[in-house]
Amino acid sequence: MHRFPKSITNRRFDLLILILLVLGVLGCESRKSASADSSSSPQTSQQGAQATAPSLNAEPQGPQLHIDPQRAMQYVKEIVAFGPRWPGSKGQEKVAGYLRNKLKADHLEEDAFTGDTPAGKLPMRNFIARFEGTKEGIILLGSHIDTLYPPQGDNFVGANDGGSSTALLLDIADQLRGKKLEGYSVWLAFFDGEEAVRSWTDTDSLYGSRHLAAKWQQDGTLGKIKAFLLADMIGDADLNILRDANSTPWLEELVLRAAQRLGYQSHFFGTEGPIEDDHRPFGKQGVPVADLIDLDYGYHNAYWHTPEDTVDKLSPKSLQISGDVILETMRLLNGKNF
Ligand SMILES: [Zn+2]
Repeated sequence: MHRFPKSITNRRFDLLILILLVLGVLGCESRKSASADSSSSPQTSQQGAQATAPSLNAEPQGPQLHIDPQRAMQYVKEIVAFGPRWPGSKGQEKVAGYLRNKLKADHLEEDAFTGDTPAGKLPMRNFIARFEGTKEGIILLGSHIDTLYPPQGDNFVGANDGGSSTALLLDIADQLRGKKLEGYSVWLAFFDGEEAVRSWTDTDSLYGSRHLAAKWQQDGTLGKIKAFLLADMIGDADLNILRDANSTPWLEELVLRAAQRLGYQSHFFGTEGPIEDDHRPFGKQGVPVADLIDLDYGYHNAYWHTPEDTVDKLSPKSLQISGDVILETMRLLNGKNF
């Protein structure tokens, strides 16, 4: 993930407004014919419906589920034991085998592709596990599985950054497996290539999520996603999940409501900032997104992207808070029809 310095964000924002104004003037002439064209596309109309915020006062639907925090912590340790997991590494192959084994009873899809990076073409692979619900539509949960690329990533095992959220999704899969889901289908996306290979730009970052969002835009899947909850760096023993300015406001409010229902609200939204992460390629296409991320990892985020990102900095309690809030947010989403 990446957080732009505020001045850069503001400049980009100013530029965006200017571009929108210019396009608005230029677009007046062509708008009528463009809207006539798009009215025949079901995908466009579905995405248009998603742009309207659903009401927040739905009752939760279905039984309350909880993760197993000790088991989730065990998964983090097993993932970290593979060592660095950058695209092309042995660790990447090991974590792929690990996911195949852990999700072998589930409907698992592999999405292999080649990332065109500043370090050349690199093999990458997303994994998607599907759990069918009774309602039309999909709740997508996501995590990235890769760690930093060398040389920065040589001694980086990403216990929190990549490890914690991947373990969390595996434990959520344990909770969903074998149950009849009285609600939307739940898909778990494990993204490869989230980290920049050299330094963060729009083209050197988010390889897996950009690839999958483009693929699902093409085949119409994107329009079926009701909400995308992304988890990243959610295992820090001192858990402070920020309010992300690049997430969808109503979905952030729903996450906060879920946290309040469980008594965990003090861990949420004490700080705010715009985050670039795997939710962005989906959010830019109109999918409601929320990134659950803690960027206060050690004093002044000192452990982030360093060899200090190790298991001893994490706690099962933080995994429990993050996981149970995600599961409760899913219940609130299932109480809606949108
Ligand atoms: Zn990272």
